Amino acid sequence: MRYKTKQIKVGSVAIGGDAPISVQSMTFSKTKDINGTLAQINRLYFAGADLVRCAVLDHDDAKALAEIKKNSPLPIVADIHFNYRLALEVAQFVDAIRINPGNIGGSERIKEVVKACKERNLPIRIGVNSGSLEEQFEAKFGRTPQGMIQSALYNFKLLEDFDFADIAISLKSSDVPRTVEAYRTLRPLCEYPFHLGVTEAGTTFHATIKSAIALGTLLLEGIGDTMRVSITGELEEEIKVAKAILQDAGVQKSGINIISCPTCGRLQSDLVSAIKIVEERTKHIKAPLNISVMGCVVNALGEAKGADVAIAFGKGNGLVIRHGEIVAKLKESELVERFLSEVEDEVKRYEER
Ligand code: SF4
Repeated sequence: MRYKTKQIKVGSVAIGGDAPISVQSMTFSKTKDINGTLAQINRLYFAGADLVRCAVLDHDDAKALAEIKKNSPLPIVADIHFNYRLALEVAQFVDAIRINPGNIGGSERIKEVVKACKERNLPIRIGVNSGSLEEQFEAKFGRTPQGMIQSALYNFKLLEDFDFADIAISLKSSDVPRTVEAYRTLRPLCEYPFHLGVTEAGTTFHATIKSAIALGTLLLEGIGDTMRVSITGELEEEIKVAKAILQDAGVQKSGINIISCPTCGRLQSDLVSAIKIVEERTKHIKAPLNISVMGCVVNALGEAKGADVAIAFGKGNGLVIRHGEIVAKLKESELVERFLSEVEDEVKRYEER
C-alpha cells in the first residue's frame, strides 16, 4: 500500500496524496538558450513527461526561463544552488523551486524565499545528494543514509520554522543500497512527498538497472510520489525507462505489456522478427493491454488465457488468440498483421468503455 503523503501542486501536476506518480526529467541545454531549451522541453512532453526541471545559474538563465515558461507545455521547476536572489527572481513565474535552504546563507534569506513562494503557492523541493552533504553532516556521518536523512530533517526544519510545508524531498545517491535505505528510513518520519531517483546513474544500460532496482524496490514498498531516472543519454530514454518501471512495478496501468518467450530449441518460426514488429507498432498505445507472443504451444496457451491478444507460433503457422479463445489459424506470414488488427480492435473497445 502506498504511504499517505501530503499533496503539493507543481503547476497543474499534483504530487503526493492519491495523485498518480509523476515522471520528470531535466533539460541539459544552457537555459539561456531559449530555443534549445524549449526544444528539449517539447521532446520531453512528447515522450510523456509530466514536468521538467531547468538549471538556473545566473540572471541570464532566470530571464530566459521567464520566456521559456510562456511557451512550455510542461510545468517548470527551477533548479537553484546557493543563490537566493535567483530564487526570488524566478519565483515570479515558475511552478516550483528546487533549492536547499541550508546553503543559501541564513534565516533572513530563507524567510524571503519562503515569502516569495507563499505568495504564488510554489512548492520547494529539497534535494539532498550524498555527494554534496552539508559539512556538519558529512563530518559526523560521512556520505551515509544517516547523513542524508539528517540533512533532509535539517533542511525541512528550516522551512517549517517559517510555517512553510509545501515541500517535496529527494535523497539521491549514486549507490543503490544507500539510496533505498535513505528513502526507506526517512519515509515514516515525515509526510512530505518523495521525489525518487538514483543520481549519476550512468549510461542507459546501467542507469536502467540501477533505477529499476532502487525505484522498483521503493515503489513496491509504497514509497514514492514523483520520480526521475537519470541517464547519460537521450531525454526520451529517461521517460521511457521511468514509465516502464512504473508499469512493471504494477503502480501505473497504461500502455502495452508484452509477454514474449525467450525462445528455445522447440521454436520453428521467426519469433524474434515478429516481436520487433509488434513492439514497434504498439508503442503508441496508451490502453493497458497485455499481449503475448509465444514460440510454441508448450506455454503459449497458458499465457494466452491471461492476455488480451496472443500469438502461439507453430511450424510455419500459428494461432491468434483473444481472451483465451482461438480467433484464427493462419500461415506464419499472415499472423502478425492479423494479431495487430486484433490489438487495435481491443484498443478501440477499451476507449469506448
Ligand atoms: Fe521454447 Fe515454446 Fe517456451 Fe518459447 S514458448 S521458450 S519456443 S518452449
